[in-house]
Amino acid sequence: MAELKEALLYEKIGGGKGGGKGGGRVQCRLCNHYCLIEDGSTGFCAVRLNEGGTLRSLSYGKSTGFAVDPIEKKPFYHFRPGSTALSFGTPGCNFRCLGCQNWDLSQLPRSSKEPKHVFDSVPTTLPKQVAELCLQHECDGIAYTYSEPTIFFEYARDCVTETKKIAKDKYHVFVSNGYFSPQMLEIVKKERMLDAIRIDLKFADDARYADYCGAKAGFKPIVENIKRVFESGIHCEVINLLVPGLNDDEDSIRKTVKLVAGISKDIPLHFLKFFPNYRKSDVGATADEALLSAREIALGKGMRFVYLGNTALPGAGDTVCPKCGSVVVRRSGFGLVENSLIVDEKRHTAKCPSCGEAIYGSW
Ligand code: SF4
Repeated sequence: MAELKEALLYEKIGGGKGGGKGGGRVQCRLCNHYCLIEDGSTGFCAVRLNEGGTLRSLSYGKSTGFAVDPIEKKPFYHFRPGSTALSFGTPGCNFRCLGCQNWDLSQLPRSSKEPKHVFDSVPTTLPKQVAELCLQHECDGIAYTYSEPTIFFEYARDCVTETKKIAKDKYHVFVSNGYFSPQMLEIVKKERMLDAIRIDLKFADDARYADYCGAKAGFKPIVENIKRVFESGIHCEVINLLVPGLNDDEDSIRKTVKLVAGISKDIPLHFLKFFPNYRKSDVGATADEALLSAREIALGKGMRFVYLGNTALPGAGDTVCPKCGSVVVRRSGFGLVENSLIVDEKRHTAKCPSCGEAIYGSW
């Protein structure tokens, strides 16, 4: 069996149960859990294994669910509209959200007594093969998605490198819960690894993050990451899934909007309809009234681009010029119906055809 890939961003701490020469405890620095991992154990995500004092990635190359998706499905509405992204994930996640829509993939290693063996049944697709798939399917880029890409960072990074060797113009985007460490983002920035990151801000409440997702550090690191990503010039969009009884009330929505608006009112903000799933199968779907109220609150607080997702409500996915009110992009589901923006294709900037207002994004 091939040796497992050594992880990035960890430190040998020593001591612990496997202490002594060549073994001992390590600390993973890839996400805000900053797990202290004993020799022979995995971190909270169950995909990073301390093997004799060396942290290794169990999920390297273990990609699954390959699909060619419209970029709007991620959702990205202000990033290369109408383009297609080769999409995949790997088993595992650094969250354990009670209503996860992808729980069969995200929670697979955690639900196993032997996380290492979970990956034996997943075929290996090396980064070079991923790059070739992107070209074969004539995709405009690659979306690291379905499960949290942070926890397969080494693999994603090598996929980016291999793709750039054969096609420099392909984009690379993370669909993330935003719990990655600042150290990980530093690598992304330094290497210009990603073009866009879509971050899921679930709650403006630390206790809810801990209870629902197992994220003990709460919402602040995620908000800080949204700020870091936006200010770094990497394209950023934010989603907020409205879970009935947890965050679909006006007070919760106001708090979430305030956090995003405090960074920039230009950040596209998507409120998504929740459907019962996993350990929240007893909770109903989000009411249309809650979605409409969320949009009203966000627009009232000056957010310039607000969307409703997983719904057929009128105008849910349309981009409206915040200055003159013209509909500049019409969407239906994940499809682009009409794009009347004036786009500078060299700079990927766009402006409203009616009033000339600049529209945030990478078009
Ligand atoms: S990626 Fe996060 S959850 Fe996984 S081992 Fe590292 S710090 Fe822990």
